[in-house]
Amino acid sequence: MAAKPAHDHTGWAAGVIAAAMVSQAGIAGPFYIWSFLALLTGYSGGGAPDWMELSWWRSGSGRYSWIPHRTLTHWGIAWIALLVLSYKALPYFHWMALVFGFAVGGIMHLLADWPNPLGVPWLWISWRHSLNLWKSGRCDWIVTSAAWLAAATVADRAWFHSVALHYVEGLTRVAMR
Ligand SMILES: [Zn+2]
Repeated sequence: MAAKPAHDHTGWAAGVIAAAMVSQAGIAGPFYIWSFLALLTGYSGGGAPDWMELSWWRSGSGRYSWIPHRTLTHWGIAWIALLVLSYKALPYFHWMALVFGFAVGGIMHLLADWPNPLGVPWLWISWRHSLNLWKSGRCDWIVTSAAWLAAATVADRAWFHSVALHYVEGLTRVAMR
């Protein structure tokens, strides 16, 4: 896995993305409750592929896994299906925001795991693909920055009418003149 702190940071970014997308879908709910819950489940989803493979219900010392690392819980298609289905269900069942947030977090986790050599089983559980960019735990700042850049972009669009984007565009235009 990418290091735990990296999954924590990208998990919060995933939460922000989920919350913003729930808002943009027009179902933030009273006091932004659904957006807020999507933020929390987004964060928990960000760590989920790793903690779901530990048998935390077993007592005793050590960390037991009930399945090999980075197999079923890191399966790309399953997470993407969950993402798409929960998003489509949002207008009908607002509580789906929780599932949606969880799925955004899970996919964020896979993206964070993708660059290091062990890779991620996007298509099939027993076939992992790796971008082979760096060893686990290295360059986590790149992953984290990319996640927050994505989060800032989505939040900007959902809540601030792309103020930041227009600002950057304006600056670029001035600079190109
Ligand atoms: Zn992982």
